[in-house]
Amino acid sequence: MAEQTPASTTHGNNPYYSRTDTTPLHVSDAEWKRILPDSVFEVARHADTERAFTGKYWNFEGLGTYYCAVCGNALFRSDSKFASSCGWPSFYQALRPNSVRYQEDHSYGMDRTEVLCGRCGSHLGHIFDDGPPPTGKRFCMNSIVLDFVPDGGK
Ligand code: FE
Repeated sequence: MAEQTPASTTHGNNPYYSRTDTTPLHVSDAEWKRILPDSVFEVARHADTERAFTGKYWNFEGLGTYYCAVCGNALFRSDSKFASSCGWPSFYQALRPNSVRYQEDHSYGMDRTEVLCGRCGSHLGHIFDDGPPPTGKRFCMNSIVLDFVPDGGK
């Protein structure tokens, strides 16, 4: 499936993707639907959740930077990633305070805090208070909306 291909090679048809431009994007869901693979669209724009232990990064330990797979915004450094038993890639802090933004989520009868990309507003996952020091936070992310680039890589 296309989403299993390293994301850095799959943005040719996405004119909004940039790892350097941090200007906020205001793109309609209809436009994203046209651009994104269905599986990415369902998570990013409909807050779907990939199944635990199935994503490409939940137990990945490479050194580098994680970008938003929708828009290229820099989200996390690998040194804030920690081994979590939850089955999703987990980080204790975002790369920059405005890398992400937060929104209350009361769906499915739960009170959670949703994490959105600070540039494109795509759903990335949720944040919980059971993470390790120094923040005690656990950014519980979906692999499919992350785009890992190794240090020194392209
Ligand atoms: Fe984004």
